[in-house]
Amino acid sequence: MSDNSLRVVWVYPDLLSTYGDQGNVLVVERRARQRGLDVARLDVRSDQPIPTSGDIYLIGGGEDRPQRLAAERLRRDGGLNRAAENGAILFSVCAGYQILGHEFINDLGQREPGLGLLDVVSVRGEGQRCVGDVLGDVDARLGLPPLTGFENHQGVTHLGPTARAFAQVRFGNGNGTGDGTEGAYNDTVFGTYMHGPVLARNPQIADLLLKLALDVNALPPTDDRWYEALRNERIAAAQQPA
Ligand code: GLN
Repeated sequence: MSDNSLRVVWVYPDLLSTYGDQGNVLVVERRARQRGLDVARLDVRSDQPIPTSGDIYLIGGGEDRPQRLAAERLRRDGGLNRAAENGAILFSVCAGYQILGHEFINDLGQREPGLGLLDVVSVRGEGQRCVGDVLGDVDARLGLPPLTGFENHQGVTHLGPTARAFAQVRFGNGNGTGDGTEGAYNDTVFGTYMHGPVLARNPQIADLLLKLALDVNALPPTDDRWYEALRNERIAAAQQPA
């Protein structure tokens, strides 16, 4: 952390923020402030350089064309890669997740290079678009409660050897590969298909990002009753037959 404030960077709100992904920024900000931290939030539009000194970077989902534009600009800018090399925490959703991988299929049907920050490759799924509520179990190493989220994507993401699956789905598709994996992570870089916004549905993930940024094992408790009510409702919804 620089000058005692936690720097939270929201990457490209003008291109990447579908299905309420802005909520992820609000949740990280709020939960940090509840723990008495000073937060400097930086909303970095796609015509601005990505600062390299952030602690936590949040990247949302997007439609196919904005996704290509975002990937082009992020590659040209290079700041996100430098931030990751500096050990920053990156948390990405859907289109943002695909962009952090090696490549994805863009809106023109072509292979578009990503940033190579996660060992994943995304292709266009041949079947139906993956849409609906998801319930999964997060990789036990991360010590998190069940994952709840909403997915809406055509892309299918294959994990390479250095990416760990973020979760295994009980309901829903996740990466769409048929093996039940959902999302990917590697050290401090995370990707998920979950909207919702996912951090409002899973505030413990926001806390994990904060703990990684602060390099602490625990945070003071918060009143999570509203979060729990939302979780219970959405977890029940995921288990309803379509
Ligand atoms: N355009 C991508 C896909 O359909 C990502 C969609 C999203 O971010 N919701 O796979």
